Amino acid sequence: ERLISGESSRFDDEKEIKLRPQLLEQYIGQEQLKKEIAVYIKAAKQREESLDHVLLYGPPGLGKTTLASIIANEMGVNIKTTTGPAIERPGDLVALLNDLELGDVLFIDEIHRLPKNIEEILYSAMEDYFIDIIIGQDATAHPVHFPLPPFTLIGATTRAGMLSSPLRARFGIVGHMNYYTEAELTKIVHRSADVFKTKISSQGAHEIARRSRGTPRIANRLLKRVRDFAEVAGKSEIDSDVVIYALNLLRVDSHGLDETDRKLLKTMITLYNGGPVGLGTIAANIGEETDTVADMVEPYLLQIGFLKRTPRGRVVTLRAYEHLGFEYKQI
Ligand code: ADP
Repeated sequence: ERLISGESSRFDDEKEIKLRPQLLEQYIGQEQLKKEIAVYIKAAKQREESLDHVLLYGPPGLGKTTLASIIANEMGVNIKTTTGPAIERPGDLVALLNDLELGDVLFIDEIHRLPKNIEEILYSAMEDYFIDIIIGQDATAHPVHFPLPPFTLIGATTRAGMLSSPLRARFGIVGHMNYYTEAELTKIVHRSADVFKTKISSQGAHEIARRSRGTPRIANRLLKRVRDFAEVAGKSEIDSDVVIYALNLLRVDSHGLDETDRKLLKTMITLYNGGPVGLGTIAANIGEETDTVADMVEPYLLQIGFLKRTPRGRVVTLRAYEHLGFEYKQI
């Protein structure tokens, strides 16, 4: 498990609940999306209708679940939360939908992992608020028609490309979540430090933000680790010295890279002259699954301009050579 992974993990505790902002105005960043959603919420409330279905996509830890619960909160409705792979049989979906009251939100995380037959049942539920399923087997099998109250489905996915087009077409609102800027992450760190009742200097908060890979979940996680170091060192405030000391010790560098990232870049530089090299080859060389590299390692390296995609494979950039202290040889 990587300390700087955007996925939730054992490093995050129950405090995460408290860290979650409750209202749109407390939600930092994603300004464009927030403005749009505020309008849709207001309009739906004025018309006394349920909010249109919402699809949120973006890397893990960027605040999709948080935004879904804020939407429910702002609409004044309940939210039921599940994940795509947890809905195995039609009956599981019926049970979930059956529980919804007028206007409620059903949040399905990892919606791209819904089984195909479930996805098909969802189409009529989303479009016309009913489901038709077959109950029983063989001789006792019979169709059942369930009408549903109007509800809002909020789907979250890390990969928009993996969603089938009929499913994607049924979302009226599609929100693309971006990595956060250092300034936004600095604000998030300050807010979380307030929740923890911990003092932090602005340089300290900025130093954490810089190493958080554009991801609030990582920022909060690093803050928690650094706070332990500050407390043990008897500091009354988290300053940049303790942040740098702790994160260097935890081997998270000034750009938020960890051993896995560095190993990948170094392998590409030393074995392949910086590329181009295919993702599968890189993965095999560093002993990781190709999917893991594609989902968890590569996106951030592309985002900060340390890797470039070319038709012939991935290439390490000058910036990455400089960061790692290798001499850049133009090929
Ligand atoms: P995702 O569902 O995209 O994986 P979450 O919604 O679970 O991400 O967010 C991860 C953590 O980051 C949560 O603890 C939440 O408190 C925090 N967080 C996410 N987005 C924001 C934000 N915009 N402002 C403040 N905190 C945020």
